[in-house]
Amino acid sequence: MVGYCPTCGKPVYFGEKKRSLGRDYHPLCLKCFRCKRQLTAGQHAEYDEKPFCSNCYMKLFGPRGNR
Ligand SMILES: [Zn+2]
Ligand SMILES: [Zn+2]
Repeated sequence: MVGYCPTCGKPVYFGEKKRSLGRDYHPLCLKCFRCKRQLTAGQHAEYDEKPFCSNCYMKLFGPRGNR
């Protein structure tokens, strides 16, 4: 099964995927959608299916679980 990278929208194949929070990314695409900082799998926030670092997430959307 081929998934689609939330960051660039292209297919992610088995050998190149990096899984985080239940989504498959290209290794280079696992980065904050806003500041482009590289993210650690499982250690970032997401909103609207896009990955964000916790800094940007706080700035944009406020504390986690408060929406
Ligand atoms: Zn990608
Ligand atoms: Zn960021």
